[in-house]
Amino acid sequence: MEKIVIVGTGPAGLTAAIYAARADFEPLVIEGMQPGGQLTTTTDIENYPGFVDGIDGFTLMQSMKDQAARFNAKFIMDEVVSTDLSGSPLTLTLGSGDVIETQSIIIATGATAIYLDMESIRTLTGRGVSACATCDGAFYRDVPVAVVGGGDTAAEEALFLARMSSKVYMIHRRDKLRASQIMADRVLANEKIEVLWDSVIDEVLDVEKNEVTGLRIKNVKTEELSNIDVTGLFMGIGHKPNTGAFDGQIDLDDQGFIVATNTKTNIAGVFAAGDVQDHTYKQAVTAAGSGCKAALEAIGYLESLT
Ligand code: NDP
Repeated sequence: MEKIVIVGTGPAGLTAAIYAARADFEPLVIEGMQPGGQLTTTTDIENYPGFVDGIDGFTLMQSMKDQAARFNAKFIMDEVVSTDLSGSPLTLTLGSGDVIETQSIIIATGATAIYLDMESIRTLTGRGVSACATCDGAFYRDVPVAVVGGGDTAAEEALFLARMSSKVYMIHRRDKLRASQIMADRVLANEKIEVLWDSVIDEVLDVEKNEVTGLRIKNVKTEELSNIDVTGLFMGIGHKPNTGAFDGQIDLDDQGFIVATNTKTNIAGVFAAGDVQDHTYKQAVTAAGSGCKAALEAIGYLESLT
């Protein structure tokens, strides 16, 4: 039986792995379908302390993994599909069918990009609709694209796309950006980015062509409709927590985040860290901090059993 299983390999999971491994608990880390988490699809991270000139997300996450591995954390390339947290041992079933028994679990499964709830968006996802500019932006060199949303994610996507695309429309449903001031200032100063204020996507044009050729935009104040030509559409409207494998097993709040106090959930021996339990801060550094806390709590819990 394992002592500590860590689910997820974003900054929360990997920081928990570093702490648990360094304390000789040899944690088993389930890497998930997106090893390294959301940061691996981020460009320069400028606000993670210690990197004066910023660092790219992939390099940061690889360094965290190497650091955990150095202290003998064990990694499995698989995902957790279901869990039974009703008794002891706690069990996790993986996609491969393997069942893992453990004394404690740190859930650090993060969050996933939300897509607009429209049939055309679902049809064209992967065919012009994306939620990751760093993954797919290179397909849109010298052509116009659109980003929907007004927060930091949308701002980051728009700024990244503006480096290569001919024009970036940022479609925002209000008349003020939600993004942090520094990101908002950069967006507004970028000549390639045009913010369409008070606007929503009414429809994606020519869906039957199986590609994005343009968008019908609706001004929510005037109800006026207008078309823009774009060949790519990027979602930047937020994220939802990844809790599917824990459905019915653990307390979630009304937005689906795991309810945790100082990383402790309602189940003894089960801890949560990072974006899966955080709808306030959602930063790499706060995720790492909560991963540290979760590992220390898990270690304390295991020691209390002996
Ligand atoms: P946010 O919740 O901050 O922003 C979501 C944006 O999408 C808002 O502007 C919102 O509009 C808009 N939106 C939501 N739903 C819809 C919808 N159905 N239709 C149209 N627009 C919609 O999410 P983010 O992912 O941007 O950021 C989450 C957190 O992560 C924040 O704390 C942010 O600071 C942080 N972050 C930091 C980064 C950095 O520092 N580099 C990079 C990315 C994220 P409205 O404003 O009207 O609510």
